[in-house]
Amino acid sequence: MADMMSEDRQWRLAIHGGAGIIARESMSTAEEGSLRNGLAAALAAGSAILEQGGAALDAVEEACRVLEDDANFNAGRGSVFTFDGTIEMDAAIMDGRERNAGAVTGATATKNPIRLARAVMEHSPHVLISGDGADLFSREQGLEQAPRDYFETEIRRRALEEMRARPGDSFDITLKYGTVGAVALDSAGHVAAATSTGGITGKRWGRIGDSPIIGAGTWADDRSCAVSATGAGEYFLRAAFAHEISACLRCASGKGGPPRGPEAQAIVDKVVADVGELGGTGGAIVVTAWGDALFGFNTEGMYRGRASPAGHEIGIFAGDTGEVPAR
Ligand code: ASP
Repeated sequence: MADMMSEDRQWRLAIHGGAGIIARESMSTAEEGSLRNGLAAALAAGSAILEQGGAALDAVEEACRVLEDDANFNAGRGSVFTFDGTIEMDAAIMDGRERNAGAVTGATATKNPIRLARAVMEHSPHVLISGDGADLFSREQGLEQAPRDYFETEIRRRALEEMRARPGDSFDITLKYGTVGAVALDSAGHVAAATSTGGITGKRWGRIGDSPIIGAGTWADDRSCAVSATGAGEYFLRAAFAHEISACLRCASGKGGPPRGPEAQAIVDKVVADVGELGGTGGAIVVTAWGDALFGFNTEGMYRGRASPAGHEIGIFAGDTGEVPAR
Protein backbone atom coordinates (compact mmCIF):
# COMPACT_ATOMS: atom_id res chain seq x y z
CA MET A 1 0.00 0.00 0.00
CA ALA A 2 1.62 3.27 -1.02
CA ASP A 3 1.62 6.14 1.39
CA MET A 4 -0.80 8.88 0.41
CA MET A 5 0.95 11.60 2.31
CA SER A 6 4.70 11.38 2.28
CA GLU A 7 5.45 14.65 0.55
CA ASP A 8 5.43 17.16 3.41
CA ARG A 9 6.92 16.99 6.87
CA GLN A 10 3.91 17.55 9.07
CA TRP A 11 2.60 15.32 11.83
CA ARG A 12 1.48 11.76 11.16
CA LEU A 13 -0.49 9.25 13.18
CA ALA A 14 -1.23 5.60 12.41
CA ILE A 15 -3.19 3.14 14.54
CA HIS A 16 -4.12 -0.52 14.46
CA GLY A 17 -6.72 -2.61 16.23
CA GLY A 18 -5.26 -6.02 15.37
CA ALA A 19 -4.90 -8.22 12.30
CA GLY A 20 -6.00 -11.70 11.33
CA ILE A 21 -8.78 -13.63 9.70
CA ILE A 22 -11.23 -10.84 9.10
CA ALA A 23 -13.74 -12.05 6.52
CA ARG A 24 -16.12 -9.53 5.00
CA GLU A 25 -18.86 -12.17 4.74
CA SER A 26 -18.85 -12.94 8.45
CA MET A 27 -18.97 -9.33 9.63
CA SER A 28 -22.34 -7.60 9.99
CA THR A 29 -22.79 -3.99 8.94
CA ALA A 30 -23.39 -3.06 12.57
CA GLU A 31 -20.19 -4.80 13.69
CA GLU A 32 -18.17 -3.15 10.96
CA GLY A 33 -19.67 0.25 11.81
CA SER A 34 -18.82 -0.16 15.46
CA LEU A 35 -15.22 -1.13 14.69
CA ARG A 36 -14.80 1.77 12.27
CA ASN A 37 -16.24 4.18 14.85
CA GLY A 38 -13.75 2.89 17.42
CA LEU A 39 -10.85 3.42 15.06
CA ALA A 40 -12.14 6.88 14.10
CA ALA A 41 -12.43 7.89 17.77
CA ALA A 42 -8.85 6.83 18.45
CA LEU A 43 -7.57 8.68 15.37
CA ALA A 44 -9.50 11.79 16.41
CA ALA A 45 -8.11 11.68 19.96
CA GLY A 46 -4.51 11.30 18.82
CA SER A 47 -4.87 13.83 16.01
CA ALA A 48 -6.31 16.47 18.35
CA ILE A 49 -3.03 16.37 20.30
CA LEU A 50 -0.78 16.47 17.24
CA GLU A 51 -2.82 19.22 15.57
CA GLN A 52 -2.14 21.50 18.51
CA GLY A 53 1.59 20.87 18.29
CA GLY A 54 1.49 18.20 21.03
CA ALA A 55 4.00 15.39 21.49
CA ALA A 56 3.93 12.09 19.58
CA LEU A 57 4.25 10.33 22.94
CA ASP A 58 1.02 11.89 24.25
CA ALA A 59 -0.79 11.17 20.99
CA VAL A 60 0.07 7.46 20.89
CA GLU A 61 -0.82 7.01 24.55
CA GLU A 62 -4.17 8.71 24.07
CA ALA A 63 -5.04 6.82 20.87
CA CYS A 64 -4.27 3.53 22.66
CA ARG A 65 -6.27 4.55 25.71
CA VAL A 66 -9.36 5.12 23.55
CA LEU A 67 -8.95 1.68 21.96
CA GLU A 68 -8.36 0.04 25.36
CA ASP A 69 -11.69 1.47 26.56
CA ASP A 70 -13.48 0.04 23.49
CA ALA A 71 -14.56 -3.56 24.17
CA ASN A 72 -14.30 -4.37 20.44
CA PHE A 73 -10.54 -4.59 20.79
CA ASN A 74 -8.31 -7.01 22.67
CA ALA A 75 -6.73 -4.54 25.11
CA GLY A 76 -7.99 -3.13 28.39
CA ARG A 77 -11.74 -3.81 28.39
CA GLY A 78 -12.39 -6.67 25.97
CA SER A 79 -9.04 -8.39 26.53
CA VAL A 80 -8.90 -12.09 25.73
CA PHE A 81 -8.87 -14.80 28.42
CA THR A 82 -5.94 -16.99 29.40
CA PHE A 83 -6.38 -20.76 29.44
CA ASP A 84 -7.24 -20.51 33.14
CA GLY A 85 -9.93 -17.89 32.55
CA THR A 86 -7.95 -14.91 33.87
CA ILE A 87 -7.02 -11.72 32.06
CA GLU A 88 -3.33 -10.75 31.85
CA MET A 89 -2.56 -7.60 29.93
CA ASP A 90 0.68 -6.47 28.28
CA ALA A 91 1.59 -2.96 27.10
CA ALA A 92 4.60 -0.95 25.98
CA ILE A 93 5.40 2.62 25.07
CA MET A 94 8.56 4.09 23.56
CA ASP A 95 9.75 7.63 22.99
CA GLY A 96 11.96 8.03 19.91
CA ARG A 97 13.85 11.04 21.29
CA GLU A 98 16.20 9.14 23.59
CA ARG A 99 14.77 5.67 23.14
CA ASN A 100 13.19 5.76 26.57
CA ALA A 101 10.74 2.94 27.06
CA GLY A 102 8.35 1.43 29.59
CA ALA A 103 6.43 -1.84 29.50
CA VAL A 104 4.33 -4.21 31.58
CA THR A 105 3.30 -7.83 31.26
CA GLY A 106 0.60 -9.74 33.08
CA ALA A 107 -1.11 -6.66 34.52
CA THR A 108 -4.55 -7.57 35.84
CA ALA A 109 -6.23 -4.51 37.33
CA THR A 110 -5.07 -1.30 35.68
CA LYS A 111 -7.91 0.17 33.65
CA ASN A 112 -5.49 1.48 31.02
CA PRO A 113 -2.31 -0.62 30.82
CA ILE A 114 -0.76 1.87 28.38
CA ARG A 115 -0.78 4.44 31.18
CA LEU A 116 0.99 1.93 33.40
CA ALA A 117 3.64 1.39 30.73
CA ARG A 118 4.20 5.13 30.57
CA ALA A 119 4.46 5.32 34.37
CA VAL A 120 7.13 2.59 34.27
CA MET A 121 9.07 4.70 31.75
CA GLU A 122 8.72 7.96 33.64
CA HIS A 123 8.53 7.00 37.30
CA SER A 124 10.59 3.83 37.74
CA PRO A 125 14.23 2.96 37.05
CA HIS A 126 13.07 -0.06 35.00
CA VAL A 127 11.88 -0.72 31.46
CA LEU A 128 9.75 -3.88 31.90
CA ILE A 129 7.90 -5.06 34.99
CA SER A 130 5.55 -8.01 35.38
CA GLY A 131 2.62 -9.60 37.21
CA ASP A 132 1.99 -8.76 40.86
CA GLY A 133 4.79 -6.22 40.83
CA ALA A 134 3.19 -4.41 37.91
CA ASP A 135 -0.18 -4.35 39.71
CA LEU A 136 1.48 -3.04 42.89
CA PHE A 137 3.41 -0.35 41.03
CA SER A 138 0.17 0.70 39.34
CA ARG A 139 -1.58 1.19 42.69
CA GLU A 140 1.43 3.04 44.10
CA GLN A 141 1.30 5.36 41.11
CA GLY A 142 -2.36 6.08 41.79
CA LEU A 143 -3.47 4.83 38.38
CA GLU A 144 -7.15 4.02 37.91
CA GLN A 145 -7.93 0.41 38.86
CA ALA A 146 -10.85 -1.64 37.57
CA PRO A 147 -12.51 -4.79 38.92
CA ARG A 148 -12.02 -8.06 37.08
CA ASP A 149 -15.46 -8.03 35.47
CA TYR A 150 -14.75 -4.64 33.88
CA PHE A 151 -12.29 -6.29 31.50
CA GLU A 152 -14.39 -9.38 30.75
CA THR A 153 -16.73 -9.68 27.77
CA GLU A 154 -19.00 -12.50 26.67
CA ILE A 155 -17.52 -12.73 23.20
CA ARG A 156 -14.00 -13.28 24.59
CA ARG A 157 -15.28 -15.88 27.05
CA ARG A 158 -16.93 -17.76 24.18
CA ALA A 159 -13.66 -17.64 22.21
CA LEU A 160 -11.90 -19.32 25.14
CA GLU A 161 -14.60 -21.97 25.45
CA GLU A 162 -14.38 -22.72 21.72
CA MET A 163 -10.62 -22.92 21.92
CA ARG A 164 -10.73 -25.26 24.92
CA ALA A 165 -13.26 -27.49 23.18
CA ARG A 166 -10.92 -28.12 20.26
CA PRO A 167 -8.61 -31.13 20.37
CA GLY A 168 -4.99 -30.44 21.37
CA ASP A 169 -4.06 -27.83 23.88
CA SER A 170 -2.16 -25.25 21.90
CA PHE A 171 -3.44 -21.69 22.13
CA ASP A 172 -5.14 -20.12 19.19
CA ILE A 173 -2.97 -18.11 16.85
CA THR A 174 -5.35 -18.25 13.90
CA LEU A 175 -8.28 -16.25 15.23
CA LYS A 176 -8.50 -12.55 14.56
CA TYR A 177 -6.37 -10.77 17.11
CA GLY A 178 -7.47 -7.30 18.20
CA THR A 179 -4.37 -5.94 19.90
CA VAL A 180 -4.16 -2.15 19.65
CA GLY A 181 -1.30 0.14 18.74
CA ALA A 182 -0.39 3.65 17.67
CA VAL A 183 2.65 5.32 16.13
CA ALA A 184 3.16 9.03 15.53
CA LEU A 185 5.50 11.69 14.21
CA ASP A 186 4.93 15.10 15.79
CA SER A 187 5.56 18.53 14.31
CA ALA A 188 8.85 18.78 16.23
CA GLY A 189 10.10 15.71 14.32
CA HIS A 190 9.90 13.17 17.17
CA VAL A 191 8.38 9.70 16.88
CA ALA A 192 6.73 7.44 19.47
CA ALA A 193 5.06 4.04 19.57
CA ALA A 194 2.56 2.33 21.87
CA THR A 195 1.05 -1.16 21.91
CA SER A 196 -1.47 -2.74 24.29
CA THR A 197 -2.98 -6.22 24.36
CA GLY A 198 -4.61 -9.02 26.28
CA GLY A 199 -2.34 -11.35 24.31
CA ILE A 200 -3.69 -14.51 22.73
CA THR A 201 -6.78 -16.50 23.75
CA GLY A 202 -5.83 -19.51 25.84
CA LYS A 203 -2.27 -18.42 26.62
CA ARG A 204 -0.69 -20.38 29.50
CA TRP A 205 2.16 -20.45 31.97
CA GLY A 206 2.64 -16.69 32.09
CA ARG A 207 3.18 -16.50 28.33
CA ILE A 208 4.43 -13.13 27.07
CA GLY A 209 4.04 -12.09 23.44
CA ASP A 210 5.83 -9.51 21.34
CA SER A 211 3.73 -6.47 22.30
CA PRO A 212 5.53 -5.49 25.55
CA ILE A 213 8.96 -6.51 24.29
CA ILE A 214 10.92 -3.48 23.13
CA GLY A 215 12.24 -4.18 19.64
CA ALA A 216 9.76 -7.01 18.94
CA GLY A 217 6.23 -5.55 19.00
CA THR A 218 7.04 -1.95 19.89
CA TRP A 219 9.87 0.38 18.88
CA ALA A 220 10.57 4.10 18.37
CA ASP A 221 13.78 5.80 17.31
CA ASP A 222 13.98 9.36 15.99
CA ARG A 223 16.75 8.24 13.63
CA SER A 224 14.37 5.97 11.72
CA CYS A 225 10.78 5.25 12.69
CA ALA A 226 8.14 4.12 15.18
CA VAL A 227 6.59 0.64 14.86
CA SER A 228 3.71 -1.19 16.55
CA ALA A 229 3.05 -4.79 15.54
CA THR A 230 0.12 -7.15 15.84
CA GLY A 231 -0.16 -10.85 15.15
CA ALA A 232 1.19 -14.16 16.37
CA GLY A 233 3.66 -12.79 18.90
CA GLU A 234 5.91 -15.83 19.03
CA TYR A 235 7.02 -15.17 15.43
CA PHE A 236 7.43 -11.42 15.85
CA LEU A 237 9.67 -12.12 18.85
CA ARG A 238 11.85 -14.45 16.81
CA ALA A 239 12.16 -11.86 14.04
CA ALA A 240 13.03 -8.98 16.44
CA PHE A 241 10.40 -7.49 14.18
CA ALA A 242 10.01 -3.82 15.11
CA HIS A 243 13.72 -3.23 15.52
CA GLU A 244 14.41 -5.03 12.26
CA ILE A 245 12.17 -2.59 10.38
CA SER A 246 13.90 0.32 12.08
CA ALA A 247 17.39 -1.02 11.36
CA CYS A 248 16.57 -1.75 7.71
CA LEU A 249 15.15 1.76 7.22
CA ARG A 250 18.19 3.31 8.88
CA CYS A 251 20.69 1.29 6.91
CA ALA A 252 18.89 2.04 3.64
CA SER A 253 19.43 5.77 4.13
CA GLY A 254 22.19 6.68 1.72
CA LYS A 255 23.43 9.68 -0.23
CA GLY A 256 20.06 10.06 -1.85
CA GLY A 257 18.45 10.47 1.59
CA PRO A 258 16.19 8.12 3.52
CA PRO A 259 13.92 5.57 1.83
CA ARG A 260 10.59 7.25 1.15
CA GLY A 261 7.14 6.20 -0.02
CA PRO A 262 7.26 2.95 -2.02
CA GLU A 263 10.88 2.33 -1.03
CA ALA A 264 10.03 2.49 2.69
CA GLN A 265 6.92 0.39 2.05
CA ALA A 266 9.05 -2.28 0.36
CA ILE A 267 11.24 -2.52 3.47
CA VAL A 268 8.21 -2.94 5.75
CA ASP A 269 6.75 -5.57 3.40
CA LYS A 270 10.03 -7.49 3.35
CA VAL A 271 10.19 -7.72 7.16
CA VAL A 272 6.52 -8.78 7.30
CA ALA A 273 7.33 -11.43 4.67
CA ASP A 274 10.22 -12.65 6.83
CA VAL A 275 7.76 -13.24 9.72
CA GLY A 276 5.56 -15.06 7.18
CA GLU A 277 8.46 -17.31 6.21
CA LEU A 278 8.86 -18.32 9.85
CA GLY A 279 5.15 -19.22 9.80
CA GLY A 280 3.75 -16.11 11.49
CA THR A 281 0.76 -14.00 10.52
CA GLY A 282 0.01 -10.39 11.38
CA GLY A 283 1.17 -6.93 10.49
CA ALA A 284 2.35 -3.53 11.62
CA ILE A 285 1.94 0.20 11.46
CA VAL A 286 5.02 2.32 10.83
CA VAL A 287 5.65 6.06 10.82
CA THR A 288 9.06 7.14 9.56
CA ALA A 289 10.87 10.09 11.09
CA TRP A 290 10.78 11.68 7.63
CA GLY A 291 7.03 11.47 7.22
CA ASP A 292 5.74 8.19 5.76
CA ALA A 293 2.78 6.51 7.47
CA LEU A 294 2.73 2.87 6.36
CA PHE A 295 0.81 -0.37 6.90
CA GLY A 296 2.09 -3.86 6.22
CA PHE A 297 0.32 -7.18 6.88
CA ASN A 298 0.10 -10.72 5.56
CA THR A 299 -3.40 -11.46 6.87
CA GLU A 300 -6.82 -11.00 5.25
CA GLY A 301 -7.25 -7.80 7.12
CA MET A 302 -5.93 -5.42 9.71
CA TYR A 303 -8.05 -2.89 11.59
CA ARG A 304 -6.16 0.28 10.86
CA GLY A 305 -6.21 4.01 10.31
CA ARG A 306 -3.90 6.91 9.63
CA ALA A 307 -4.16 10.66 9.85
CA SER A 308 -2.23 13.76 8.88
CA PRO A 309 -3.19 17.42 8.40
CA ALA A 310 -4.48 16.31 4.97
CA GLY A 311 -7.20 14.07 6.43
CA HIS A 312 -7.65 10.56 7.69
CA GLU A 313 -8.42 7.09 6.38
CA ILE A 314 -9.65 3.90 7.96
CA GLY A 315 -9.31 0.37 6.59
CA ILE A 316 -10.20 -3.15 7.64
CA PHE A 317 -9.79 -5.50 4.71
CA ALA A 318 -6.77 -5.76 2.40
CA GLY A 319 -7.16 -3.20 -0.37
CA ASP A 320 -9.40 -0.80 1.57
CA THR A 321 -8.54 2.84 1.20
CA GLY A 322 -11.44 4.91 2.48
CA GLU A 323 -9.60 8.19 2.62
CA VAL A 324 -11.55 11.00 4.28
CA PRO A 325 -10.44 14.57 3.59
CA ALA A 326 -9.53 16.92 6.44
CA ARG A 327 -12.50 18.57 8.11
N1 ASP B 1 0.87 -9.84 19.23
C1 ASP B 1 -0.03 -10.14 20.31
C2 ASP B 1 0.56 -11.23 21.16
O1 ASP B 1 1.16 -12.13 20.63
C3 ASP B 1 -1.38 -10.56 19.86
C4 ASP B 1 -2.02 -9.65 18.85
O2 ASP B 1 -1.37 -8.89 18.16
O3 ASP B 1 -3.25 -9.70 18.71
O4 ASP B 1 0.36 -11.21 22.36
